[in-house]
Amino acid sequence: MPSFEDVIPSPAEVEAAFEVRAGGVRPPARSARVVAILVTGRGVERSSWSDDVEVSEDDFERLLEEQAPPPDLNDLNGAKFRTLDPGSRGAKVQRCTECRYRPADGKCLRCGGTGSILVGGDDSEQCSGCTNGIALPCAVCGGTKRAVPVKIVFGEDVLRRFAHIFLPEVPFALREPLTRFFKERASVPDVLAIDLADDFAGADAYRGRRSRAEVKGHRADAALALAKQYVERVRRMPSLAAVEAAAFAWPFAVFSGDADGSAAYAVAKDEQAQIHLFP
Ligand SMILES: [Zn+2]
Ligand SMILES: [Zn+2]
Repeated sequence: MPSFEDVIPSPAEVEAAFEVRAGGVRPPARSARVVAILVTGRGVERSSWSDDVEVSEDDFERLLEEQAPPPDLNDLNGAKFRTLDPGSRGAKVQRCTECRYRPADGKCLRCGGTGSILVGGDDSEQCSGCTNGIALPCAVCGGTKRAVPVKIVFGEDVLRRFAHIFLPEVPFALREPLTRFFKERASVPDVLAIDLADDFAGADAYRGRRSRAEVKGHRADAALALAKQYVERVRRMPSLAAVEAAAFAWPFAVFSGDADGSAAYAVAKDEQAQIHLFP
């Protein structure tokens, strides 16, 4: 699809669609060129929780240097990280409480220093808490008996995708089949990309009145303003640390025989240049 115009069903294509699908019914005379606005995007959802722990002095030095990574919209696996709570930057070294009650000679308390544990009857197995009766070094301080009590913030990033379809004003019976059509599109031609920040002459869109917003001569009605509001709402979500959104205007034609929209049809061209007649 080299251009926006290539996605617009031509008069000949419309004729052919009615010929095949509607059994030779002529396209109703009243027609309108409209666009649906498609929004797709992704965001990094950052969640965090904190925990009070003791860490070794080495760990503390490391934590003082570590910072939360910037949210990465291209990281499909999501990031996990830990940082020091800002309130803990001035934490002071204390006696490690984890190993406070360890015997001075390092004797393992689990097996009483024997190195093995009885398991039913006369069987015994090697104690997992020590090496030959001597306790493993303290997991917190590594044996220095010095530790720093801190609050650590644990964070996790998860990539979230979002998408939404905004239809212009179309006869009611066409809404559902058109929505399904746009949902089923595996890809959206790049030539349909629009910048929602552009001025689409939709000055009325924000006053709740029927909008005259249009894209390249195609009526968008309130769809542009609603798409813009939707993206702004997503960007403001506190749980999203980064958001990337793209918007597309997909042209199609609406035909209606009566002013009230009965006997209405729509014709659209998909990304493979196939013509679809709705309903
Ligand atoms: Zn032991
Ligand atoms: Zn310790």
